[in-house]
Amino acid sequence: MPGLESGREPGPERDREDGREHDSERDREHDPEHGLEDDPEPPEPSGTPSQNPFLAPGAKNGGEVPDLPKHTLALDVGGTGVKAGLVTRDGELTRTWRRATRIERGPEAVIETIADFAAELLAQTAADGTPAAAAGFALPGIVDEQSGVGVFSATIGWRDVPFRALLTERLAVPVTIGHDVRAGGVAEARIGAGRGSSRFVFLPLGTSIGGAIMIDGKPHPGGHGRGGELGHFVVRPGGLPCGCGLAGCLAQYASAGAVAARYAAAAGTENTGALDVAAKLATGDPIATRIWDEAVDTLADALLTISAILDPGRVVIGGGLAEAGDTLMVPLAKALTAKATYHALPELVPAELGDLAGCLGAGLLAWDLVP
Ligand SMILES: [Zn+2]
Repeated sequence: MPGLESGREPGPERDREDGREHDSERDREHDPEHGLEDDPEPPEPSGTPSQNPFLAPGAKNGGEVPDLPKHTLALDVGGTGVKAGLVTRDGELTRTWRRATRIERGPEAVIETIADFAAELLAQTAADGTPAAAAGFALPGIVDEQSGVGVFSATIGWRDVPFRALLTERLAVPVTIGHDVRAGGVAEARIGAGRGSSRFVFLPLGTSIGGAIMIDGKPHPGGHGRGGELGHFVVRPGGLPCGCGLAGCLAQYASAGAVAARYAAAAGTENTGALDVAAKLATGDPIATRIWDEAVDTLADALLTISAILDPGRVVIGGGLAEAGDTLMVPLAKALTAKATYHALPELVPAELGDLAGCLGAGLLAWDLVP
């Protein structure tokens, strides 16, 4: 099923499409080729410094009460890079690392990189006095969280990889496996723009479009782990062909990747990203206006049908296109209101966690394994 990748396909413009060029967290990350790198600003040591990280603050060596780990390790596997971080129980990311995925080496090498990276980070963080209590992995493609299996990734090329079993055997901590967008939805639900909403849809408009249907803080993965693929919602029957085999999918009109590519093709220019297209609206650029309007219109159609089916209280819109802020949100709310008849419309809000949502979600899901 090519193209079913929840907005995470790699590409030369991916990072830019995500709109995070100057993301402060990303700026703290280091050269991916050099693998394990320390955060330049190590976290404040918590508790009384001790030679033994497992000792309670103030306890002497051989003392009575062992100190519990204050972090989980999170890895978010993308087509270009694996983001890793230490996540506190409150959802604070205290250290981050990044390593290149290098998908050209084939799926087996990528799987090995994921396991090696996690094992090295667990060893290093334990040695640094910040041991992790558990590890969470956010994976692209089709993921069966129940069985801990990476069912399929078009980007990386793996099929039916028993990640949880494999990583549990390799790592000395409990392991949880999540779908990248659904993990992002968990993070938005607990510490981001979904807080306080019992029914919301997380809709990241990135290189492609993913989706997570969130009910009472939990993603609803569907009967086969394939629910929430809102990018492959046909909004223009017989329209633009999609990598999934259908035509007229939302992702072909309203993803940051589609807006950028469509503009570049129509204007005969280089692909400079969706935010550049958004910036051209102010100059009255007719091509930018046409493509942006179509993105807004197809999104409003999709949201109207989502409202009819799910009646979410809120839709949390993320990804590179949402970085355009009011340039997207204001006309989108207007178009949705204009199309609605009987519907009770959801509140439209921008996501709060940017491209760290998957990593944070993986870390928070790992905390669920810790009593
Ligand atoms: Zn499609």
